[in-house]
Amino acid sequence: MQVYQLKIGPMDNFCYVLACEASKEAILIDPGWEKGKVQDFLTEKELTPVLIISTHSHYDHVQENDAWKQEGIKILAHELAVDAKPDIKVKDKETYDFCNETITFLHAPGHDLGGMLIKAGKNLFTGDVLFIGAIGRTDLPGSDPAKMQETLSIIKNLAENLIVWPGHDYGPVAHRLLGIEKRENPFLRSALHSGRDGN
Ligand SMILES: [Zn+2]
Repeated sequence: MQVYQLKIGPMDNFCYVLACEASKEAILIDPGWEKGKVQDFLTEKELTPVLIISTHSHYDHVQENDAWKQEGIKILAHELAVDAKPDIKVKDKETYDFCNETITFLHAPGHDLGGMLIKAGKNLFTGDVLFIGAIGRTDLPGSDPAKMQETLSIIKNLAENLIVWPGHDYGPVAHRLLGIEKRENPFLRSALHSGRDGN
């Protein structure tokens, strides 16, 4: 499974394309802007989109979901991510099999009620929970600073060799190893090194 990172829209959002070399199928994570640009990329790579995964409910991540749905593509999101309009609703630690890989969803509230982390192989897609060197806002409707601390504790328990792929290009680099993030990100550093097991 190959990961492509596309920068889309006016808010430095990242959309991710998980491409299966064998089947030429693709999963899109947060294609919230510029559907045409995303489609052109898929065409160029000869990929067929089979599923959209929304990391959370905010419009800059989900506003194109209806348009993709009209093409028959299903949306997967946490059951509390109502505005993502999921066809497939998942809970904490549920999985989805794609391209001989098991994708695991970890509920990650704090920035948004229905936020989740997406773990696929050595990749960790963090949406607006964790940016490179920063974290998402916790002063929005559906935010909860205390839950964010719990979520950061879960992230702290995850493997250092995971690659963090954030929801926005807000950091000094576009992606980084979680081990470096644990040392460099002040919000992650100050989070309690306890909490429930994130697997
Ligand atoms: Zn957000």
